[in-house]
Amino acid sequence: MATLEIRDLHVSIDTDQGAKEILRGVDLTINEGEIHAIMGPNGSGKSTLAYTIAGHPRYTVDSGSITLDGEDVLAMSVDERAKAGLFLAMQYPVEIPGVTVSNFLRTAKTALDGEAPPLRAWVKDLKSSMEALRMDRGFAERNVNEGFSGGEKKRHEIVQLELLKPKFAVLDETDSGLDVDALKIVSEGVNRVKESTGLGVLLITHYTRILRYIKPDFVHVFVEGRIAEQGGAELADRLENEGYDRFVTSTPVA
Ligand code: ADP
Ligand code: MG
Ligand code: MG
Repeated sequence: MATLEIRDLHVSIDTDQGAKEILRGVDLTINEGEIHAIMGPNGSGKSTLAYTIAGHPRYTVDSGSITLDGEDVLAMSVDERAKAGLFLAMQYPVEIPGVTVSNFLRTAKTALDGEAPPLRAWVKDLKSSMEALRMDRGFAERNVNEGFSGGEKKRHEIVQLELLKPKFAVLDETDSGLDVDALKIVSEGVNRVKESTGLGVLLITHYTRILRYIKPDFVHVFVEGRIAEQGGAELADRLENEGYDRFVTSTPVA
């Protein structure tokens, strides 16, 4: 069984005032097929965790470990992380001039598998994935991220999940900027991929709204750079009613 394991992770960033510790000892284990929601106030370090898993050069790991099936993720390049089975939604956030969605996906798949997918099956998979997400067929011929709306960006992420079949996905604020219809479609997409491939998901969100559609197996409350409490789906309901106040100490991180 695939496992992504984060142990006592401490991460800092360089600022004008010197190094600033953002993550202060994060422990988290995600098994395949599990959905873990990370919820927490703004500035608590949720995106820092996502970027660190992604291997963003801005973030310095001071101590601790991230392993995927026992392999040291922190020693891997960004490409190697993808090959090992990590999907990081923010990995390709930029516009890629002249590269269509269709080409991008096929190139990514070829790079991951070490060989190009058979064309017919590929075209069929792409089409059915886009249909399930109710995307216009013309979308495949648009340039990656060029003028994409929030909803199109998110759907593009789900198409990638469906076609690239990673072991684990880190989805940071996948719900931001989505109307309810789009949120439902994207959530159904995540659930569908989880069911069909055993994807493990780290779902980072500030709001409980998306958790009505994607049922988390575990909820972690992230405060001041570490996990302050964990529970099941019921913890999200409590957070919705009570907010994060009782978890926040008097010393702000920022
Ligand atoms: P979240 O995603 O939970 O809102 P972030 O990981 O984005 O939190 O930020 C965590 C902390 O790191 C915040 O205190 C934020 O101010 C700080 N931070 C993030 N990026 C920078 C940056 N580029 N320069 C200075 N501080 C930063
Ligand atoms: Mg520690
Ligand atoms: Mg964030």
